[in-house]
Amino acid sequence: MKAVVLSADWQPKPDYLPSERELKTRKVMRGSQVWKNPRISLENVADPELKDDEVLLEVKAVGICGSDMHMYESSADGYMIYPSLVKTSNILGHEFSGRIIELGKEVTELAIGDSVAVEEVQWCGVCTSCRRGFLNHCENTEEIGFSINGAMASYIAVKAKYCWKLNDLIDKVGEQEAMLLGAMVEPTGVAYHGMFNRLTTWRPGNHTVIFGAGPIGLATIALAIAAGAAEVIVFDTSKSRRELAKAMGASHVLDPSQVDIDESILALTSGRGADWVVECAGVADKTIQQMNASLAVNASIIDIGMGSKSPVLPTVSYKVKGVQLAGSLGHVGCGTFQNVIRLMAAGRVDMRKMLSDTLPLEDAMKAFKRLERREDAKIILRP
Ligand SMILES: [Zn+2]
Ligand SMILES: [Zn+2]
Repeated sequence: MKAVVLSADWQPKPDYLPSERELKTRKVMRGSQVWKNPRISLENVADPELKDDEVLLEVKAVGICGSDMHMYESSADGYMIYPSLVKTSNILGHEFSGRIIELGKEVTELAIGDSVAVEEVQWCGVCTSCRRGFLNHCENTEEIGFSINGAMASYIAVKAKYCWKLNDLIDKVGEQEAMLLGAMVEPTGVAYHGMFNRLTTWRPGNHTVIFGAGPIGLATIALAIAAGAAEVIVFDTSKSRRELAKAMGASHVLDPSQVDIDESILALTSGRGADWVVECAGVADKTIQQMNASLAVNASIIDIGMGSKSPVLPTVSYKVKGVQLAGSLGHVGCGTFQNVIRLMAAGRVDMRKMLSDTLPLEDAMKAFKRLERREDAKIILRP
């Protein structure tokens, strides 16, 4: 079958000592410290083999994510930008939908012909974190398209327990569109997990501030509106992304390089400030760190954007105002995929607004090249 394969050279930086496990598996905990000269190619590879607890999917749609870009792109020193778990060589692709064409012997809850979206975080269910309910922090986690083969391919075999049916969505929008939306459940789930699972302080009527209008930020806008936000104020330095944020329903879009963050939030909220702040830009030192006077009493801050720098935060002020801050990672647990699919089926969240293009898998290289310019939001490949 055809597949988009990520390769790179094993060259650990002098101050990074790979563990025994990393040496053995080539699954590196900090990709940016080990992988040099990352590159992708469209290759002919063997079809996946089906295990008893797996289903075989014909991939119908697979999105290209910021993380895919960060695995493919290198910084000035030639090392991969992506800082977390990556194995090479590996098939990319973790935001996808597909149709089941074969069932493993032990699979009982799914049938041939079912269309599904699939969780990227392959939680084990037996480690202490999983048993405590924190599946996104699984101690034995594998990640589709990062540490194990992904879905930028004709077929993928996945464990049945990570699949969520798209039936409701197909009934509402038809199969073609449901498959596209299905490939956007994962990134929308990342936003949902931060918005509603990590803290339980959301209130309809919240003045909401969102930093970053990439796919996760755009999904956060859609979810905030669906959940009854009052003003939705979005900051992004890119003009095209600000336009997308507006199209998604943001009340105000601002360029943080041109305005004072605190002042503009206060001006737009009659001096009351932000109740709800979501970092989706991955530059907390330039976003959350710049907020103080504009945080309302009992404000909640959720940090989703994966960046390398830690912000210096006004924790004294957090205490005085009763501000809570939560980090958020992943998208599984608490029925997140189910609820995102329901929101899409009910028409409350329409992520098609952020779709820049759909292209055949054969055009993957072109699509990655085009995304280097950071002008598009989401491109979906159709194998
Ligand atoms: Zn992603
Ligand atoms: Zn686990």
